[in-house]
Amino acid sequence: MNGRSIAIAGGGIAGLACAALMGRAGARVVVHDRMDAPAPVGSGLILQPVGLAVLDEIGVGDRLRALGAPIRRLFGRVQPSGRVVLDVRYRALGGGAGEGLAVHRGALFEALLHAARQAGVTFESACDVAGAADGRLLLRGGATTAKFDLVVDALGVRSALSHTLPLPPLPFGALWGNLDWPAGSAFDAMALEQRYEAARRMVGVLPIGSVRPGAPRQAAFFWSLRHADLAAWQEGGLEAWKADVMHLWPQTAPFLAQVTRREQLIFASYCHGTLRSPLKDGVVHIGDSWHSASPQLGQGANMALLDALALARAMERHADIATAMEAYARARLVHIRIYQLASWMFTPAYQSDSDAAAWLRDWVLAPVSKLWPAPKILAALVAGAIGSPLAAIDAIGDG
Ligand SMILES: Cc1cc2nc3c(=O)[nH]c(=O)nc-3n(C[C@H](O)[C@H](O)[C@H](O)COP(=O)(O)OP(=O)(O)OC[C@H]3O[C@@H](n4cnc5c(N)ncnc54)[C@H](O)[C@@H]3O)c2cc1C
Repeated sequence: MNGRSIAIAGGGIAGLACAALMGRAGARVVVHDRMDAPAPVGSGLILQPVGLAVLDEIGVGDRLRALGAPIRRLFGRVQPSGRVVLDVRYRALGGGAGEGLAVHRGALFEALLHAARQAGVTFESACDVAGAADGRLLLRGGATTAKFDLVVDALGVRSALSHTLPLPPLPFGALWGNLDWPAGSAFDAMALEQRYEAARRMVGVLPIGSVRPGAPRQAAFFWSLRHADLAAWQEGGLEAWKADVMHLWPQTAPFLAQVTRREQLIFASYCHGTLRSPLKDGVVHIGDSWHSASPQLGQGANMALLDALALARAMERHADIATAMEAYARARLVHIRIYQLASWMFTPAYQSDSDAAAWLRDWVLAPVSKLWPAPKILAALVAGAIGSPLAAIDAIGDG
């Protein structure tokens, strides 16, 4: 990749990972982000074994393992019956196939930014990207960047460079906040736990470890909320909301006691959408700008990391950019189609007003998930391994 100039629009997970990998391979990379200074956004997330493999390749896997929380199980009960309707264990994969790692977004961001800087990447902040043409980024306000050999769109779900029309948000989003892990708590420190009332209500606790060495260990706490109910939540009393949460899962009291201001929780909305091809008008898309989904399957960041690795690998193995772009798209297409479809199918079972979807989850999916070979298939699905994405990336440039 020696000397190639790469403009990356967006310094989130996909953009920084791609920058670190390409910079290390000898490209001249400039990341453009609208943030005033590089900063993490959001709560916590689960890195799956496939995503961790990319972070190991970047050289930040162990740093994150030291900060994050290993996740061995995804577990959920429907209330008021208390029946277990979700129980996926990574160990069903067998052969030491790994586990998840939940991390603070800030920890992931710092690790990737550090790796990108070590690789000689330049970070241009306060650049609001509005378009791209002829190898240049067009910035809001009228300025234009220098010409680059390749423009990479890593602007995320609302990218100004991907979908022609903005994607409509799904009816349900969620309130998210990072709260301290209560001392002596009865929560499983190695599990994502959720409680549901049909599919209309959901509360979840995900241990995410510390944002930096020595900082308190935390959990990402989330509460499913319809877009249409956000204004009422913002205007209503916090105590009434806490009573609703307590009704669904009384053991969350030590978390709720920490919420004293509404601003501690941020509403995240989700969209489903996939571009048919990651190549459009001289721009290559990675991460959510190519494919976005609700976080029900916990794959978005992992897919963004896989895209970054595939694109960097394709650029290393093919001198011709057009050939490299085709190899990149080919390596990622199957995995992305499988996971976008699975996320689309699973989301209504956890976040919707549909009684039928909740019934299917409780009376079909839950019992079937216990029968061989479903535990292994579900563990592979959660681990991001269906479609063998790493093997597809390794094969780039073969033959
Ligand atoms: C609440 C929530 C929970 C999630 N949980 C998980 C999980 O457990 N596991 C998982 O794998 N995934 C999870 N995801 C999905 C994951 O966060 C995304 O898939 C991932 O962040 C996508 O990375 P990205 O780099 O494509 O986009 P982003 O991380 O969104 O980065 C986009 C970057 O572009 C910048 N930007 C945007 N527009 C402009 C502009 N016009 N000009 C300049 N800069 C711009 C932004 O500032 C940002 O830095 C979750 C998502 C949400 C919302």
